[in-house]
Amino acid sequence: MAESTTPLRDGETTETEDVTDGFNLVIDALKLNEINTIYNVPGIPVTDLGRMMQASGMRILSFRHEQNAGYAAAASGFLTKKPGICLTVSAPGFLNGLTALAHATTNCFPMILISGSSEREIVDLQQGDYEEMDQLAVAKPLCKAAYRVLNAEDVGIGIARAIRAAVSGRPGGVYLDLPGKLFTQVIDADEGAKSLVKVIDAAPSQIPSNESVDRALDVLRTAARPLIILGKGAAYAQADEDIRDLVEKSGIPYLPMSMAKGLLPDTHSQSASAARSLVLKKSDVVMVVGARINWLLSHGKGSTWGDHPKKFIQVDIEPKEMDSNVEIAAPVVGDIGSCVKSLLDGMGEDWPMPSSEWRDEVRSKVEINVARMASRLENNSDPMDFHGALGVLRTVIKERPDAILINEGANTLDFARTIIDMYKPRKRIDVGTWGVMGIGMGSAIAAAVETGQPVLAIEGDSAFGFSGMEIETICRYDLPICVVVFNNSGIYRGMDTNPTGGADVATTVFVKNSRYDKMIEAFGGVGMSVKSPEELSHAVNEAMDSGKPTLINAVIDSSAGTESGRIGNLNPKSAVVGRKK
Ligand code: ADP
Ligand code: MG
Repeated sequence: MAESTTPLRDGETTETEDVTDGFNLVIDALKLNEINTIYNVPGIPVTDLGRMMQASGMRILSFRHEQNAGYAAAASGFLTKKPGICLTVSAPGFLNGLTALAHATTNCFPMILISGSSEREIVDLQQGDYEEMDQLAVAKPLCKAAYRVLNAEDVGIGIARAIRAAVSGRPGGVYLDLPGKLFTQVIDADEGAKSLVKVIDAAPSQIPSNESVDRALDVLRTAARPLIILGKGAAYAQADEDIRDLVEKSGIPYLPMSMAKGLLPDTHSQSASAARSLVLKKSDVVMVVGARINWLLSHGKGSTWGDHPKKFIQVDIEPKEMDSNVEIAAPVVGDIGSCVKSLLDGMGEDWPMPSSEWRDEVRSKVEINVARMASRLENNSDPMDFHGALGVLRTVIKERPDAILINEGANTLDFARTIIDMYKPRKRIDVGTWGVMGIGMGSAIAAAVETGQPVLAIEGDSAFGFSGMEIETICRYDLPICVVVFNNSGIYRGMDTNPTGGADVATTVFVKNSRYDKMIEAFGGVGMSVKSPEELSHAVNEAMDSGKPTLINAVIDSSAGTESGRIGNLNPKSAVVGRKK
Protein backbone atom coordinates (compact mmCIF):
# COMPACT_ATOMS: atom_id res chain seq x y z
CA MET A 1 0.00 0.00 0.00
CA ALA A 2 1.43 3.30 -1.06
CA GLU A 3 0.22 5.30 1.93
CA SER A 4 1.43 2.71 4.38
CA THR A 5 5.12 3.51 3.91
CA THR A 6 4.79 7.30 3.99
CA PRO A 7 5.58 8.91 7.35
CA LEU A 8 2.88 11.27 8.62
CA ARG A 9 3.67 14.96 8.60
CA ASP A 10 3.56 17.04 11.79
CA GLY A 11 0.04 17.37 13.11
CA GLU A 12 -1.30 14.90 10.57
CA THR A 13 -3.12 11.89 11.96
CA THR A 14 -4.54 8.81 10.41
CA GLU A 15 -7.92 7.34 11.09
CA THR A 16 -7.34 4.44 8.77
CA GLU A 17 -7.69 1.16 10.59
CA ASP A 18 -5.37 -0.86 8.43
CA VAL A 19 -2.18 0.97 9.34
CA THR A 20 -0.17 1.30 12.50
CA ASP A 21 2.90 3.32 13.45
CA GLY A 22 6.04 3.21 15.56
CA PHE A 23 4.28 4.62 18.63
CA ASN A 24 1.63 1.91 18.58
CA LEU A 25 4.07 -0.86 17.76
CA VAL A 26 6.23 0.00 20.79
CA ILE A 27 3.16 -0.08 23.01
CA ASP A 28 1.81 -3.30 21.48
CA ALA A 29 5.19 -5.02 21.76
CA LEU A 30 5.56 -4.12 25.44
CA LYS A 31 2.01 -5.15 26.28
CA LEU A 32 2.35 -8.41 24.39
CA ASN A 33 5.23 -9.17 26.76
CA GLU A 34 3.23 -8.18 29.83
CA ILE A 35 5.17 -5.02 30.48
CA ASN A 36 2.60 -2.56 31.74
CA THR A 37 4.46 -0.15 34.00
CA ILE A 38 6.78 2.60 32.77
CA TYR A 39 8.93 4.98 34.81
CA ASN A 40 9.39 8.08 32.71
CA VAL A 41 10.15 11.75 32.26
CA PRO A 42 8.19 13.20 29.32
CA GLY A 43 9.71 15.39 26.60
CA ILE A 44 10.94 15.40 23.00
CA PRO A 45 10.59 12.96 21.25
CA VAL A 46 8.65 10.71 23.66
CA THR A 47 5.89 12.98 25.03
CA ASP A 48 3.23 11.42 22.85
CA LEU A 49 4.54 7.93 23.49
CA GLY A 50 3.88 8.43 27.21
CA ARG A 51 0.43 9.84 26.53
CA MET A 52 -0.48 7.00 24.23
CA MET A 53 0.85 4.44 26.70
CA GLN A 54 -1.42 5.87 29.36
CA ALA A 55 -4.35 5.96 26.94
CA SER A 56 -3.73 2.29 26.19
CA GLY A 57 -4.14 1.37 29.86
CA MET A 58 -0.48 1.10 30.84
CA ARG A 59 0.67 2.66 34.11
CA ILE A 60 3.02 5.56 33.36
CA LEU A 61 4.68 7.23 36.32
CA SER A 62 6.26 10.55 35.47
CA PHE A 63 9.25 11.60 37.56
CA ARG A 64 11.04 14.90 38.08
CA HIS A 65 14.46 13.58 37.07
CA GLU A 66 15.42 10.62 34.86
CA GLN A 67 17.93 9.25 37.34
CA ASN A 68 15.15 8.60 39.83
CA ALA A 69 12.90 7.09 37.18
CA GLY A 70 15.86 4.86 36.32
CA TYR A 71 16.46 3.80 39.92
CA ALA A 72 12.75 2.97 40.09
CA ALA A 73 13.09 0.77 37.00
CA ALA A 74 16.15 -0.95 38.50
CA ALA A 75 14.35 -1.64 41.80
CA SER A 76 11.33 -2.90 39.91
CA GLY A 77 13.57 -5.36 38.06
CA PHE A 78 14.95 -6.68 41.35
CA LEU A 79 11.48 -7.06 42.86
CA THR A 80 9.66 -8.61 39.92
CA LYS A 81 12.27 -10.54 37.88
CA LYS A 82 10.92 -8.68 34.83
CA PRO A 83 12.80 -5.79 33.21
CA GLY A 84 11.93 -2.45 34.78
CA ILE A 85 11.41 0.16 32.05
CA CYS A 86 12.71 3.72 32.18
CA LEU A 87 11.67 6.03 29.34
CA THR A 88 13.57 9.26 28.69
CA VAL A 89 14.10 12.05 26.18
CA SER A 90 17.26 12.35 24.11
CA ALA A 91 20.83 13.29 25.10
CA PRO A 92 20.60 14.96 28.54
CA GLY A 93 17.60 12.88 29.63
CA PHE A 94 19.30 9.78 28.32
CA LEU A 95 22.50 10.62 30.22
CA ASN A 96 20.54 11.20 33.39
CA GLY A 97 19.01 7.76 33.02
CA LEU A 98 22.34 6.15 32.24
CA THR A 99 23.63 6.25 35.83
CA ALA A 100 20.70 4.09 36.84
CA LEU A 101 21.23 1.76 33.88
CA ALA A 102 24.86 1.26 34.89
CA HIS A 103 23.71 0.75 38.49
CA ALA A 104 21.24 -1.92 37.35
CA THR A 105 23.95 -3.68 35.36
CA THR A 106 26.40 -3.56 38.25
CA ASN A 107 23.78 -4.99 40.59
CA CYS A 108 22.54 -7.66 38.14
CA PHE A 109 19.02 -6.20 38.02
CA PRO A 110 17.07 -6.46 34.75
CA MET A 111 16.19 -3.04 33.36
CA ILE A 112 15.64 -1.45 29.96
CA LEU A 113 16.40 2.20 29.38
CA ILE A 114 14.38 3.33 26.38
CA SER A 115 15.44 6.74 25.12
CA GLY A 116 14.21 8.78 22.21
CA SER A 117 17.04 10.13 20.07
CA SER A 118 17.67 12.70 17.35
CA GLU A 119 17.80 12.07 13.62
CA ARG A 120 20.50 9.60 12.63
CA GLU A 121 21.38 11.43 9.41
CA ILE A 122 22.17 14.62 11.31
CA VAL A 123 23.78 12.97 14.33
CA ASP A 124 26.10 10.85 12.20
CA LEU A 125 27.24 13.85 10.17
CA GLN A 126 27.55 15.81 13.43
CA GLN A 127 25.57 18.70 12.04
CA GLY A 128 24.28 19.89 15.38
CA ASP A 129 20.76 18.51 15.77
CA TYR A 130 18.55 19.29 18.75
CA GLU A 131 20.02 17.24 21.60
CA GLU A 132 22.47 15.58 19.26
CA MET A 133 24.29 12.57 20.64
CA ASP A 134 25.31 9.12 19.48
CA GLN A 135 23.49 7.58 22.43
CA LEU A 136 23.99 3.97 21.38
CA ALA A 137 27.76 4.37 21.40
CA VAL A 138 27.69 6.11 24.77
CA ALA A 139 25.48 3.46 26.37
CA LYS A 140 27.34 0.39 25.09
CA PRO A 141 30.19 0.19 27.61
CA LEU A 142 27.82 0.80 30.52
CA CYS A 143 25.24 -1.92 30.01
CA LYS A 144 24.80 -5.55 29.16
CA ALA A 145 23.47 -4.93 25.65
CA ALA A 146 22.41 -1.97 23.51
CA TYR A 147 20.16 -1.90 20.45
CA ARG A 148 18.73 0.68 18.07
CA VAL A 149 15.55 0.29 16.04
CA LEU A 150 15.41 2.25 12.77
CA ASN A 151 12.41 0.66 11.09
CA ALA A 152 8.88 0.21 12.37
CA GLU A 153 8.99 -3.42 11.16
CA ASP A 154 11.81 -4.10 13.65
CA VAL A 155 10.16 -2.74 16.80
CA GLY A 156 8.93 -6.17 17.83
CA ILE A 157 12.34 -7.79 17.38
CA GLY A 158 14.08 -4.86 19.10
CA ILE A 159 11.91 -5.11 22.19
CA ALA A 160 12.15 -8.90 22.28
CA ARG A 161 15.94 -8.74 22.16
CA ALA A 162 16.01 -6.11 24.89
CA ILE A 163 13.81 -8.19 27.20
CA ARG A 164 15.78 -11.38 26.63
CA ALA A 165 19.12 -9.63 27.13
CA ALA A 166 17.93 -8.03 30.37
CA VAL A 167 16.61 -11.14 32.13
CA SER A 168 18.51 -14.14 30.74
CA GLY A 169 21.76 -15.39 32.26
CA ARG A 170 23.12 -12.82 34.69
CA PRO A 171 20.46 -10.10 34.59
CA GLY A 172 21.45 -6.54 33.78
CA GLY A 173 20.69 -3.24 32.11
CA VAL A 174 19.85 -2.91 28.40
CA TYR A 175 19.69 0.24 26.33
CA LEU A 176 17.12 0.61 23.55
CA ASP A 177 17.54 3.58 21.24
CA LEU A 178 14.42 4.80 19.44
CA PRO A 179 15.03 7.72 17.04
CA GLY A 180 12.21 10.26 16.86
CA LYS A 181 11.47 9.42 13.23
CA LEU A 182 10.65 5.82 14.11
CA PHE A 183 7.52 6.75 16.04
CA THR A 184 5.69 8.24 13.07
CA GLN A 185 6.67 5.58 10.54
CA VAL A 186 3.49 3.98 9.30
CA ILE A 187 3.16 0.37 8.20
CA ASP A 188 0.31 -1.96 7.36
CA ALA A 189 -1.47 -2.99 10.55
CA ASP A 190 -1.44 -6.73 9.77
CA GLU A 191 2.22 -6.64 8.93
CA GLY A 192 2.81 -4.73 12.13
CA ALA A 193 0.91 -7.25 14.22
CA LYS A 194 2.85 -10.09 12.61
CA SER A 195 6.16 -8.37 13.35
CA LEU A 196 5.60 -8.43 17.11
CA VAL A 197 7.43 -11.07 19.12
CA LYS A 198 6.21 -12.69 22.30
CA VAL A 199 9.32 -13.74 24.17
CA ILE A 200 8.97 -17.39 25.18
CA ASP A 201 10.91 -18.50 28.26
CA ALA A 202 12.88 -15.26 28.55
CA ALA A 203 15.15 -16.54 31.32
CA PRO A 204 15.53 -20.27 30.66
CA SER A 205 16.57 -22.48 33.57
CA GLN A 206 20.26 -23.19 33.63
CA ILE A 207 20.72 -26.58 35.24
CA PRO A 208 24.07 -27.18 36.95
CA SER A 209 25.99 -30.29 35.97
CA ASN A 210 25.74 -33.30 38.28
CA GLU A 211 29.52 -33.32 38.65
CA SER A 212 29.56 -29.76 39.92
CA VAL A 213 26.83 -30.48 42.45
CA ASP A 214 28.57 -33.65 43.70
CA ARG A 215 31.87 -31.80 43.97
CA ALA A 216 30.23 -29.04 45.99
CA LEU A 217 28.62 -31.53 48.37
CA ASP A 218 31.91 -33.40 48.76
CA VAL A 219 33.65 -30.20 49.78
CA LEU A 220 30.82 -29.24 52.11
CA ARG A 221 30.87 -32.67 53.75
CA THR A 222 34.53 -32.26 54.74
CA ALA A 223 33.87 -28.97 56.53
CA ALA A 224 34.48 -28.60 60.23
CA ARG A 225 33.26 -25.00 60.37
CA PRO A 226 31.03 -24.38 57.34
CA LEU A 227 29.35 -21.09 56.48
CA ILE A 228 26.72 -20.13 53.89
CA ILE A 229 26.64 -16.60 52.47
CA LEU A 230 23.42 -15.54 50.73
CA GLY A 231 23.55 -12.59 48.32
CA LYS A 232 20.98 -10.51 46.53
CA GLY A 233 21.18 -12.88 43.56
CA ALA A 234 19.61 -15.46 45.88
CA ALA A 235 16.87 -13.00 46.81
CA TYR A 236 16.31 -12.13 43.14
CA ALA A 237 15.97 -15.80 42.15
CA GLN A 238 12.63 -16.17 43.98
CA ALA A 239 13.57 -19.67 45.12
CA ASP A 240 12.71 -18.73 48.69
CA GLU A 241 11.45 -22.06 50.00
CA ASP A 242 14.26 -24.14 48.60
CA ILE A 243 16.87 -21.72 49.89
CA ARG A 244 15.34 -21.89 53.31
CA ASP A 245 15.27 -25.69 53.13
CA LEU A 246 18.89 -25.81 52.05
CA VAL A 247 20.01 -23.70 54.99
CA GLU A 248 17.86 -25.57 57.49
CA LYS A 249 18.62 -29.05 56.22
CA SER A 250 22.35 -28.33 56.28
CA GLY A 251 22.27 -26.82 59.76
CA ILE A 252 25.00 -24.44 58.63
CA PRO A 253 25.24 -20.90 60.03
CA TYR A 254 24.49 -18.36 57.30
CA LEU A 255 25.21 -14.70 56.63
CA PRO A 256 22.82 -12.68 54.47
CA MET A 257 24.27 -9.83 52.42
CA SER A 258 22.22 -6.68 52.95
CA MET A 259 19.58 -7.22 50.25
CA ALA A 260 19.38 -10.93 51.03
CA LYS A 261 18.21 -10.15 54.55
CA GLY A 262 14.82 -11.71 55.17
CA LEU A 263 15.28 -14.68 52.81
CA LEU A 264 15.18 -16.39 56.18
CA PRO A 265 14.01 -14.19 59.04
CA ASP A 266 16.98 -12.35 60.59
CA THR A 267 15.90 -13.78 63.93
CA HIS A 268 16.49 -17.34 62.64
CA SER A 269 18.59 -19.52 64.96
CA GLN A 270 21.16 -20.16 62.19
CA SER A 271 21.64 -16.48 61.32
CA ALA A 272 25.24 -15.49 61.96
CA SER A 273 24.76 -11.79 61.15
CA ALA A 274 25.63 -10.71 64.68
CA ALA A 275 28.74 -12.90 64.60
CA ARG A 276 29.95 -11.79 61.17
CA SER A 277 33.60 -11.23 62.11
CA LEU A 278 33.80 -14.57 63.85
CA VAL A 279 32.31 -16.68 61.07
CA LEU A 280 34.31 -15.00 58.31
CA LYS A 281 37.54 -15.54 60.21
CA LYS A 282 36.98 -19.04 61.55
CA SER A 283 35.02 -20.81 58.84
CA ASP A 284 36.86 -23.42 56.78
CA VAL A 285 34.35 -23.98 53.98
CA VAL A 286 32.25 -21.12 52.66
CA MET A 287 29.35 -21.68 50.28
CA VAL A 288 28.48 -18.43 48.53
CA VAL A 289 25.04 -18.36 46.91
CA GLY A 290 24.22 -15.43 44.58
CA ALA A 291 26.82 -13.08 45.99
CA ARG A 292 30.07 -11.86 44.49
CA ILE A 293 33.23 -12.03 46.55
CA ASN A 294 33.87 -8.35 45.86
CA TRP A 295 34.74 -5.39 48.10
CA LEU A 296 31.63 -6.00 50.18
CA LEU A 297 33.21 -9.30 51.23
CA SER A 298 36.75 -7.89 51.40
CA HIS A 299 37.57 -9.85 48.21
CA GLY A 300 37.65 -13.06 50.24
CA LYS A 301 41.02 -12.31 51.81
CA GLY A 302 42.92 -10.17 54.28
CA SER A 303 42.31 -9.57 57.96
CA THR A 304 38.49 -9.79 57.65
CA TRP A 305 38.88 -13.46 56.68
CA GLY A 306 41.66 -14.34 59.14
CA ASP A 307 44.34 -17.00 58.78
CA HIS A 308 42.24 -20.18 58.75
CA PRO A 309 42.63 -21.78 55.31
CA LYS A 310 39.35 -21.81 53.44
CA LYS A 311 37.67 -23.56 50.60
CA PHE A 312 34.98 -21.79 48.63
CA ILE A 313 31.92 -23.20 46.93
CA GLN A 314 30.21 -20.66 44.70
CA VAL A 315 26.72 -20.91 43.24
CA ASP A 316 26.18 -18.41 40.44
CA ILE A 317 24.66 -18.12 37.01
CA GLU A 318 27.72 -16.40 35.59
CA PRO A 319 30.65 -18.77 34.91
CA LYS A 320 33.09 -15.86 34.64
CA GLU A 321 32.39 -14.99 38.26
CA MET A 322 34.29 -18.08 39.44
CA ASP A 323 37.87 -17.47 40.64
CA SER A 324 37.37 -13.71 40.24
CA ASN A 325 38.88 -12.95 43.64
CA VAL A 326 39.80 -16.26 45.27
CA GLU A 327 40.11 -19.83 44.04
CA ILE A 328 36.74 -21.55 43.94
CA ALA A 329 37.15 -25.19 44.94
CA ALA A 330 33.65 -26.10 43.78
CA PRO A 331 31.96 -23.87 41.21
CA VAL A 332 28.26 -24.58 40.71
CA VAL A 333 27.11 -22.72 37.63
CA GLY A 334 23.42 -22.42 36.96
CA ASP A 335 20.35 -20.52 38.03
CA ILE A 336 19.97 -20.46 41.77
CA GLY A 337 16.58 -22.15 41.79
CA SER A 338 17.94 -25.15 39.85
CA CYS A 339 21.25 -25.22 41.72
CA VAL A 340 19.64 -25.16 45.14
CA LYS A 341 17.19 -27.91 44.12
CA SER A 342 20.04 -30.10 42.90
CA LEU A 343 22.03 -29.49 46.07
CA LEU A 344 19.01 -30.38 48.19
CA ASP A 345 18.43 -33.58 46.22
CA GLY A 346 22.09 -34.51 46.51
CA MET A 347 22.09 -33.98 50.27
CA GLY A 348 19.58 -36.78 50.70
CA GLU A 349 17.83 -37.51 53.97
CA ASP A 350 20.71 -38.01 56.38
CA TRP A 351 22.95 -35.02 55.80
CA PRO A 352 25.27 -34.62 58.82
CA MET A 353 24.82 -31.42 60.85
CA PRO A 354 27.94 -29.36 61.46
CA SER A 355 29.56 -30.08 64.84
CA SER A 356 27.70 -28.73 67.82
CA GLU A 357 30.95 -27.02 68.89
CA TRP A 358 30.85 -24.81 65.80
CA ARG A 359 27.13 -24.16 65.97
CA ASP A 360 27.33 -23.32 69.68
CA GLU A 361 30.34 -21.06 69.23
CA VAL A 362 28.49 -19.04 66.58
CA ARG A 363 25.25 -19.04 68.50
CA SER A 364 26.75 -17.80 71.75
CA LYS A 365 28.63 -15.02 69.94
CA VAL A 366 25.35 -13.99 68.31
CA GLU A 367 23.56 -13.94 71.65
CA ILE A 368 26.24 -11.85 73.34
CA ASN A 369 26.26 -9.31 70.52
CA VAL A 370 22.48 -9.14 70.22
CA ALA A 371 22.15 -8.52 73.97
CA ARG A 372 24.86 -5.85 73.85
CA MET A 373 23.05 -4.10 71.01
CA ALA A 374 19.64 -4.33 72.68
CA SER A 375 20.58 -2.01 75.52
CA ARG A 376 21.93 0.59 73.08
CA LEU A 377 18.69 0.50 71.11
CA GLU A 378 16.65 1.44 74.12
CA ASN A 379 18.42 4.71 74.79
CA ASN A 380 16.14 7.71 74.88
CA SER A 381 18.62 10.50 74.19
CA ASP A 382 17.15 13.73 72.95
CA PRO A 383 18.26 14.65 70.34
CA MET A 384 18.41 11.04 69.21
CA ASP A 385 21.49 9.11 68.25
CA PHE A 386 21.36 6.51 65.47
CA HIS A 387 20.71 3.64 67.85
CA GLY A 388 17.82 5.29 69.66
CA ALA A 389 16.12 6.18 66.38
CA LEU A 390 16.75 2.84 64.71
CA GLY A 391 15.62 0.90 67.76
CA VAL A 392 12.18 2.39 67.15
CA LEU A 393 12.18 1.72 63.40
CA ARG A 394 13.26 -1.85 64.03
CA THR A 395 10.03 -2.39 65.97
CA VAL A 396 8.01 -0.77 63.17
CA ILE A 397 9.33 -3.37 60.69
CA LYS A 398 8.93 -6.20 63.19
CA GLU A 399 5.27 -5.31 63.51
CA ARG A 400 4.88 -4.84 59.75
CA PRO A 401 6.99 -7.56 58.11
CA ASP A 402 5.34 -6.98 54.73
CA ALA A 403 6.45 -3.36 54.54
CA ILE A 404 9.38 -2.63 52.25
CA LEU A 405 12.41 -0.92 53.68
CA ILE A 406 14.44 1.48 51.55
CA ASN A 407 17.73 2.52 53.06
CA GLU A 408 20.57 4.84 52.07
CA GLY A 409 23.07 7.14 53.70
CA ALA A 410 26.41 6.52 55.41
CA ASN A 411 25.84 5.95 59.12
CA THR A 412 22.10 5.74 58.47
CA LEU A 413 22.76 2.83 56.13
CA ASP A 414 25.39 1.01 58.16
CA PHE A 415 23.49 1.13 61.41
CA ALA A 416 20.09 0.34 59.90
CA ARG A 417 21.48 -2.65 58.03
CA THR A 418 22.67 -4.30 61.22
CA ILE A 419 19.93 -3.07 63.56
CA ILE A 420 16.74 -3.60 61.56
CA ASP A 421 15.75 -7.26 61.25
CA MET A 422 13.97 -8.31 58.08
CA TYR A 423 11.47 -11.14 58.14
CA LYS A 424 10.56 -11.76 54.51
CA PRO A 425 12.45 -11.95 51.20
CA ARG A 426 12.97 -8.90 48.94
CA LYS A 427 11.77 -6.41 51.55
CA ARG A 428 14.99 -4.45 51.68
CA ILE A 429 16.34 -2.24 48.91
CA ASP A 430 19.49 -0.27 49.52
CA VAL A 431 22.48 1.33 47.81
CA GLY A 432 23.66 -1.96 46.28
CA THR A 433 27.03 -2.90 44.92
CA TRP A 434 28.24 0.63 44.26
CA GLY A 435 27.04 2.08 47.52
CA VAL A 436 25.38 4.75 45.37
CA MET A 437 23.58 7.67 47.01
CA GLY A 438 20.32 8.71 45.36
CA ILE A 439 18.43 5.43 45.02
CA GLY A 440 15.98 6.43 47.77
CA MET A 441 12.85 7.96 46.30
CA GLY A 442 13.01 6.06 42.99
CA SER A 443 13.28 2.74 44.82
CA ALA A 444 10.54 3.73 47.26
CA ILE A 445 8.17 4.62 44.42
CA ALA A 446 8.87 1.37 42.55
CA ALA A 447 8.43 -0.65 45.75
CA ALA A 448 5.02 0.92 46.40
CA VAL A 449 3.91 0.62 42.77
CA GLU A 450 5.09 -2.93 42.15
CA THR A 451 4.02 -4.50 45.44
CA GLY A 452 1.18 -2.35 46.76
CA GLN A 453 2.77 -2.66 50.21
CA PRO A 454 3.58 0.24 52.55
CA VAL A 455 7.12 1.56 52.23
CA LEU A 456 9.44 2.94 54.88
CA ALA A 457 12.40 4.87 53.47
CA ILE A 458 15.16 5.53 55.98
CA GLU A 459 17.35 8.23 54.51
CA GLY A 460 20.44 10.08 55.56
CA ASP A 461 19.90 13.82 55.07
CA SER A 462 22.61 13.95 52.42
CA ALA A 463 21.34 10.84 50.61
CA PHE A 464 17.80 12.22 50.60
CA GLY A 465 19.01 15.36 48.85
CA PHE A 466 19.87 13.40 45.70
CA SER A 467 16.26 12.49 44.98
CA GLY A 468 14.27 14.70 47.38
CA MET A 469 12.24 16.44 44.67
CA GLU A 470 10.49 13.15 43.98
CA ILE A 471 8.40 13.66 47.10
CA GLU A 472 6.19 15.62 44.72
CA THR A 473 5.89 12.45 42.63
CA ILE A 474 5.03 10.48 45.77
CA CYS A 475 2.28 12.97 46.64
CA ARG A 476 1.02 13.17 43.06
CA TYR A 477 0.43 9.43 42.90
CA ASP A 478 -0.64 9.32 46.55
CA LEU A 479 1.73 6.45 47.37
CA PRO A 480 1.91 4.80 50.82
CA ILE A 481 5.47 5.92 51.48
CA CYS A 482 6.84 7.18 54.78
CA VAL A 483 10.22 8.88 54.38
CA VAL A 484 12.26 9.34 57.53
CA VAL A 485 15.14 11.78 57.05
CA PHE A 486 17.89 11.29 59.62
CA ASN A 487 18.80 14.92 59.97
CA ASN A 488 22.23 15.30 61.53
CA SER A 489 22.89 18.53 59.59
CA GLY A 490 25.57 17.14 57.38
CA ILE A 491 27.48 14.41 55.61
CA TYR A 492 28.74 11.88 58.17
CA ARG A 493 28.24 14.49 60.93
CA GLY A 494 27.23 18.10 61.12
CA MET A 495 30.16 19.25 63.23
CA ASP A 496 33.02 20.05 60.86
CA THR A 497 34.36 23.60 60.70
CA ASN A 498 36.06 25.53 57.93
CA PRO A 499 39.77 25.30 58.78
CA THR A 500 40.41 28.85 57.47
CA GLY A 501 37.77 30.35 59.76
CA GLY A 502 36.19 31.88 56.60
CA ALA A 503 32.48 32.50 56.09
CA ASP A 504 31.77 29.31 54.11
CA VAL A 505 30.78 26.38 56.28
CA ALA A 506 32.79 23.15 56.12
CA THR A 507 32.42 21.01 53.01
CA THR A 508 30.39 18.35 54.80
CA VAL A 509 27.95 20.63 56.63
CA PHE A 510 24.35 21.59 55.73
CA VAL A 511 22.01 24.31 57.00
CA LYS A 512 21.43 23.78 60.73
CA ASN A 513 17.92 23.09 61.95
CA SER A 514 16.62 22.30 58.45
CA ARG A 515 13.01 21.26 58.28
CA TYR A 516 12.73 18.64 55.55
CA ASP A 517 9.17 17.95 56.67
CA LYS A 518 8.09 21.34 55.33
CA MET A 519 9.00 20.24 51.82
CA ILE A 520 6.33 17.55 51.61
CA GLU A 521 3.69 19.87 53.06
CA ALA A 522 4.16 22.04 49.97
CA PHE A 523 2.76 19.16 47.91
CA GLY A 524 -0.09 18.22 50.21
CA GLY A 525 1.70 15.41 52.04
CA VAL A 526 2.05 15.02 55.79
CA GLY A 527 5.15 16.51 57.42
CA MET A 528 6.32 15.94 61.00
CA SER A 529 9.48 16.86 62.87
CA VAL A 530 10.57 14.73 65.83
CA LYS A 531 13.38 14.80 68.36
CA SER A 532 12.94 11.76 70.59
CA PRO A 533 12.54 8.04 69.91
CA GLU A 534 9.07 8.23 71.41
CA GLU A 535 7.97 11.00 69.04
CA LEU A 536 9.53 9.13 66.14
CA SER A 537 7.68 5.95 67.00
CA HIS A 538 4.38 7.79 67.21
CA ALA A 539 4.93 9.62 63.91
CA VAL A 540 6.05 6.58 61.90
CA ASN A 541 3.26 4.36 63.17
CA GLU A 542 0.73 7.02 62.29
CA ALA A 543 2.18 7.34 58.79
CA MET A 544 2.37 3.59 58.17
CA ASP A 545 -1.20 3.12 59.38
CA SER A 546 -2.60 5.98 57.31
CA GLY A 547 -0.75 5.08 54.10
CA LYS A 548 -0.50 8.82 53.38
CA PRO A 549 2.64 10.25 51.78
CA THR A 550 4.63 11.39 54.81
CA LEU A 551 8.04 12.87 55.52
CA ILE A 552 9.39 12.78 59.04
CA ASN A 553 12.30 15.04 59.90
CA ALA A 554 14.12 13.03 62.56
CA VAL A 555 16.59 15.26 64.38
CA ILE A 556 19.76 13.27 65.07
CA ASP A 557 22.60 14.45 67.30
CA SER A 558 25.00 16.02 64.80
CA SER A 559 28.00 14.57 66.61
CA ALA A 560 26.69 10.99 66.49
CA GLY A 561 28.07 9.75 63.15
CA THR A 562 31.47 8.55 62.01
CA GLU A 563 33.34 9.55 58.87
CA SER A 564 32.10 7.50 55.86
CA GLY A 565 30.20 5.20 58.21
CA ARG A 566 31.88 1.79 58.25
CA ILE A 567 33.90 2.26 55.10
CA GLY A 568 36.07 5.15 56.28
CA ASN A 569 39.12 3.04 55.42
CA LEU A 570 38.26 3.48 51.71
CA ASN A 571 38.56 7.26 51.94
CA PRO A 572 42.17 8.33 51.32
CA LYS A 573 43.49 10.73 53.96
CA SER A 574 46.31 13.21 53.55
CA ALA A 575 49.31 12.54 55.76
CA VAL A 576 50.31 16.18 55.47
CA VAL A 577 48.54 17.68 58.46
CA GLY A 578 47.65 21.33 58.81
CA ARG A 579 48.39 22.33 55.23
CA LYS A 580 47.94 26.08 54.65
CA LYS A 581 47.01 28.05 51.52
P1 ADP B 1 25.45 -9.12 47.08
O1 ADP B 1 25.76 -7.69 46.80
O2 ADP B 1 24.22 -9.32 47.84
O3 ADP B 1 26.63 -9.84 47.61
P2 ADP B 1 25.93 -9.50 44.31
O4 ADP B 1 25.15 -8.52 43.54
O5 ADP B 1 27.37 -9.22 44.55
O6 ADP B 1 25.15 -9.81 45.67
O7 ADP B 1 25.87 -10.90 43.58
C1 ADP B 1 24.72 -11.36 43.00
C2 ADP B 1 25.15 -12.56 42.19
O8 ADP B 1 23.98 -13.32 41.92
C3 ADP B 1 25.78 -12.21 40.85
O9 ADP B 1 27.04 -12.81 40.73
C4 ADP B 1 24.80 -12.75 39.82
O10 ADP B 1 25.45 -13.32 38.70
C5 ADP B 1 24.06 -13.81 40.61
N1 ADP B 1 22.71 -14.05 40.17
C6 ADP B 1 21.73 -13.16 39.96
N2 ADP B 1 20.58 -13.78 39.62
C7 ADP B 1 20.85 -15.10 39.65
C8 ADP B 1 20.07 -16.27 39.40
N3 ADP B 1 18.77 -16.22 39.10
N4 ADP B 1 20.70 -17.45 39.51
C9 ADP B 1 22.00 -17.54 39.82
N5 ADP B 1 22.77 -16.47 40.08
C10 ADP B 1 22.20 -15.27 39.99
MG1 MG C 1 23.73 13.22 57.67
